[in-house]
Amino acid sequence: MPNSKVALVCGAGGFIGSHLVRRLKSEGHWVRGVDLKYPDFSGTPADDFVIGDLREPTVWERILDRPFDEVYQLAADMGGAGYIFTGDNDAHIMHNSALINLNLLTLARERRVGRIFYSSSACIYPKHNQEDPESPNCAEHTAYPANPDSEYGWEKLFSERMYLAFNRNHGLDVKIARFHNIFGPEGPWTGGREKAPAAVCRKVAEVKNGGTVEIWGDGAQTRSFLYIDECLEGVSRLMNHPNFRGPVNIGSEEMVSINQLVALVADIAGKRVHIKHVEGPLGVRGRNSDNELSKRHLNWAASKPLRYGMERTYRWVKEQVKNPRAK
Ligand code: NAD
Repeated sequence: MPNSKVALVCGAGGFIGSHLVRRLKSEGHWVRGVDLKYPDFSGTPADDFVIGDLREPTVWERILDRPFDEVYQLAADMGGAGYIFTGDNDAHIMHNSALINLNLLTLARERRVGRIFYSSSACIYPKHNQEDPESPNCAEHTAYPANPDSEYGWEKLFSERMYLAFNRNHGLDVKIARFHNIFGPEGPWTGGREKAPAAVCRKVAEVKNGGTVEIWGDGAQTRSFLYIDECLEGVSRLMNHPNFRGPVNIGSEEMVSINQLVALVADIAGKRVHIKHVEGPLGVRGRNSDNELSKRHLNWAASKPLRYGMERTYRWVKEQVKNPRAK
């Protein structure tokens, strides 16, 4: 097929990676996936799927055994607030993800690797700019002076810098996106690594009409959420841009409180629900994407309202609650 590329997707068994493999295949590319596991909820259309631990340099030797036009580095030790903010997983998160990124960059210098995409996170933004839930500031240039609210965010910031340093000093063609709360079907929905959209869908799907759902904190904390298909469009525009590297936000600017998110999901479900606020790990008070840079360079911003993605996600989570295939 003309314009067909050879792509490697690291983290291809995860939420975003498995959707990305599907998109790259639908565009006619040859795709190798690699992960510790196969996707949890459906088969993979990858041409080749390697089960391997990317902390091991020998696994990289094996998977970079041919030229790749594009490498997408999505593998990371991560999860929702219940995984990132308790403090219990900090050493694992920093050690495992940094090793994966170091291994890729070390070998990419020797092997024929074209463009490298690195998935950073909104978690790199300083805590002090996200204390007001009504007007958080997450424009790209506000990342410094740095003060992320988690070790997960510090590792992402370190790795961003490492990718940029390998670009400056060794000429690697890197692209960096900062994802803001990506959600959709076939993501974690229970078990501790799920994020707010899937967790809220599960809680609403499980409760009877008129029942009560528990929400961590007072629910006034704000976030924006980006549907998976929109995220992949942003990634594609960044990867196809001739010279803009980022880091650039890939997120939605439709900010809602967690209480509003519950109300939206309850409305989608056609249920009345009461909210009980309980103690739990929270993260920053407010966070929203700032898309000025992505509009300017990529001509990209989220195009659909939050409700569009939440309807699809709720439908899928409800099915899982009824008939769980994987957790
Ligand atoms: P995910 O946890 O579903 O996917 C990550 C995948 O990496 C998992 O399948 C995991 O098994 C794999 N992995 C972890 N350690 C590995 C190892 N040592 N060897 C091989 N594979 C390994 O997460 P996701 O939501 O798909 O996120 C993908 C990337 O985007 C991650 O780097 C994440 O930090 C970043 N990100 C995601 C979001 C979001 O909202 N989902 C937000 C910001 C950034």
